[in-house]
Amino acid sequence: TIAMIALNSRGSMAAGTSTNGATHKVPGRLADSGVPGSGAYVDSEVGGCGATGDGDVMMRFVPCYQVVESMRRGMSPKSAVEEALGRIRRRHPTFQGALLALDKNGNHAGATNCMDFHYSLASADHPDVRVIEVQASVPCP
Ligand code: ASP
Repeated sequence: TIAMIALNSRGSMAAGTSTNGATHKVPGRLADSGVPGSGAYVDSEVGGCGATGDGDVMMRFVPCYQVVESMRRGMSPKSAVEEALGRIRRRHPTFQGALLALDKNGNHAGATNCMDFHYSLASADHPDVRVIEVQASVPCP
């Protein structure tokens, strides 16, 4: 999956995701990437979220909607992605998945469960792309 979240100089935001579906692709499979709120979600008043990983598990939890709504209530991007991932982990401890969040002020964070995850970041202030490695907060069982 390639998930993207964008914030422009006027504060307008967009989010989207694509997937090769290579690991899981069977005819008719939809999974999380094409489902708003699951693979990606954004509200310019709050922030955005993108997801990657086992979409068949993750889409049952609509995690990106949860992340954006948590940020709306004042949660940091880091707490929001960790909480949403934790909700999935309680039912599926070994699922492979990761979430990325960017709020309207440019704060960003990722969380991952049982998979390596990093994301790229560029901004007008820092046009050189930085790669952010995300460490799992809970070891994979
Ligand atoms: N989320 C994608 C899917 O389940 C897979 C991926 O992240 O690469 O199709």
